[in-house]
Amino acid sequence: MAALLDDPERRSGLPQVMWRDRLLNTTGVGIPQGDRHRWLSPDIDTLPFVDRSFLPQDPYRAEDGRLEANLVCSRGCPYECGFCGAAASMNPDVRIRTRDPRNIIEEMDLLHAQYGTTAFRAVDDLFLGARRVIHHAMDAFTAARIGDRYTWDATGRINVLHREDDHTLATLAANGLREVALGIESGSERILRMMDKRITPQMTHTVTRRLLERGVNVKGYFILGYPGESRADAKDTIAHIRTLWSLSDRLPGTFRASVFTFRPYPGSPVWADLVAQGYDPGQMQDYTDVDLTDHGADEAMRGRDEFNFTTGLQFGEVPLPELNGHLADLSREQFHRSHEQGAVA
Ligand code: SF4
Repeated sequence: MAALLDDPERRSGLPQVMWRDRLLNTTGVGIPQGDRHRWLSPDIDTLPFVDRSFLPQDPYRAEDGRLEANLVCSRGCPYECGFCGAAASMNPDVRIRTRDPRNIIEEMDLLHAQYGTTAFRAVDDLFLGARRVIHHAMDAFTAARIGDRYTWDATGRINVLHREDDHTLATLAANGLREVALGIESGSERILRMMDKRITPQMTHTVTRRLLERGVNVKGYFILGYPGESRADAKDTIAHIRTLWSLSDRLPGTFRASVFTFRPYPGSPVWADLVAQGYDPGQMQDYTDVDLTDHGADEAMRGRDEFNFTTGLQFGEVPLPELNGHLADLSREQFHRSHEQGAVA
């Protein structure tokens, strides 16, 4: 973008830049000379920090009163979850990169000095996704006494955290880790295999328990209605959410469930399968809102979730109205739980 803005004439050498030639009535595409990665996957430690003066909503006042800012600590993901547009095979141009933790700490300290920010959310596709990343970051966070000064949230992988010992989980907590967002997705082993998720419900249970015991909150993402999902699979997912809620009722950390009905995204591994099965690409992107208000009966749920929208298509065995009923029940229960606990909804 910077190169394009500096000199629009350079566009023909910039990858994935397209333009329309009005005179010739043709479309042009930039073709880079040499290393595409220089443009598409630059060294993220050499990029300047985001200039927040252009972002009126970041940093922002969080519900717990802290000033909070979003951070991006890594780019790309090595996993292959079927529903995800970030799956590695779908992004061959993107090299997976993690910022040097000293670079992350520098941005935290700068935000603290400029705005008084003391809480951070790493909104990457996947930050705590590899052992070497976790250990490297925690060594630097410990040395910089991050846990004495800030709290932070991050995305993580259940299979990776499952392999970490108690000492590492305690170090994450001591370094200020407030909440980990985990893709739990399903309570059915069969569906998890179909998603290529590389986790089991038992693994999720163990990791969630170990984090909650150490006071680290867990946010779990779930999908209802994945292609091939049976009524029994959906029931397993709902039961799994309830088990994790009850774990959190007796442990220091809080578990919250973020549930969605399945929407296929162009550029995700499952998309091509569905097109091959005869689903119409246009219809698969024809979104409408999901009513979480129980047809207006529960006004507290109005506009609660801008991320929950639906294609109106059924991909598993359970009909959509029934699935949306489960979604509304679970979302309502989570909303009320969060408000009882005073947690961030
Ligand atoms: S769901 Fe998460 S772990 Fe899976 S491919 Fe997407 S970003 Fe990676």
